[in-house]
Amino acid sequence: MSATPVLKSEATIGILGGGQLGRMLALAAARLGFRCHAFAPDADSCAFDVMHDSTCAAYDDHAALARFADAVDIITFEFENIPAETAAFLAARRPVVPDPTVLAKTQDRLVEKNVIKELGIATAPFASVQSAADLAQAASVVGLPAVLKTRRLGYDGKGQKMIGPSDDPAAAWIALHGVPCILEGFVPFDREISVVAARSRDGRVECFDVAENEHSNHILKTSRVPAAISHDLAVEARRITEVIANAFDYVGVLAVEMFVVGQGGGPAVLVNEIAPRVHNSGHWSIDGCSVSQFEQHIRAVAGWPLAKPVRHGDAEMTNLIGEEVNDYARWLGEPGVSVHLYGKTNPHPGRKMGHVTRVISGGAKA
Ligand code: AMP
Repeated sequence: MSATPVLKSEATIGILGGGQLGRMLALAAARLGFRCHAFAPDADSCAFDVMHDSTCAAYDDHAALARFADAVDIITFEFENIPAETAAFLAARRPVVPDPTVLAKTQDRLVEKNVIKELGIATAPFASVQSAADLAQAASVVGLPAVLKTRRLGYDGKGQKMIGPSDDPAAAWIALHGVPCILEGFVPFDREISVVAARSRDGRVECFDVAENEHSNHILKTSRVPAAISHDLAVEARRITEVIANAFDYVGVLAVEMFVVGQGGGPAVLVNEIAPRVHNSGHWSIDGCSVSQFEQHIRAVAGWPLAKPVRHGDAEMTNLIGEEVNDYARWLGEPGVSVHLYGKTNPHPGRKMGHVTRVISGGAKA
């Protein structure tokens, strides 16, 4: 592919993936005058509702992928499990931003953990598990309690089994169907945080303030910004994120999820996961900041300068999960609350249907 062009505002941005992240990317892109074209296999993809154009086809449908590439000026993704082969097919026809080589580093938890470790960044102890025999060996190295996780395709706690000190590890192995896994030492964390950051083509990095995340049934429930951590720890979390973004020569928005642990010398952070995309813990920025994570991503992808994020106040984002969305009317009259509904029709348990953000103005700086 020739050099990636700087896009004019009427250009068309292709988005791989059709979920709420694509939907919110397209809304942000529209504000800047761009058109978006989503490609996703699911006919009721909620992103399709707000697109200039959409293609509903399988990720291995080469004819549809080729037509999609011809119809757009540049391609990005909102979903990190895009098959590597799909990304390579498209990258031969149109610039794909961020460079899809990042997917190989983040789609496999073992590769991802090794990449993080090679950057000198701390993680939970981990070991590769390819067989039941490996699991016994890994448990003796990592220690119990531990979490067995499938190397691929896990999200929102899917593909994970906790193994307690008195549990039989073999049962977890069977429950995950004997696919390649990693065993991670259980981290007795004080809190979970994330840093959402944008990196431009010229290597400038702009981090949003650190979010503090609470999960319920392994699904993000609430993000609060700023996280209740020390200034030094926030600086460290942002530094780690910047190291990762630079090491990947990343362009766009990415998120780094971390555990805060109390250690002998004071609290420290361990990296749990990298998401090479806009992230649920950055949704607060739509209402709580001078620029949203979605706009930052579009700016980076288009080759535009990034904005310097200035927070309007302290923010709290709450996901509306499953049937909770039916209660949206109660949020409509709440002062300072913004309501976002994703237009999904089937509120099955655990499905992210919308979110609400409360901003308390007069918070702080960036
Ligand atoms: P993940 O899919 O790796 O982001 O895990 C989902 C959630 O499970 C995390 O946000 C944590 O709340 C919890 N979790 C995952 N790994 C660990 C671990 N090694 N120790 C403690 N909790 C974990």
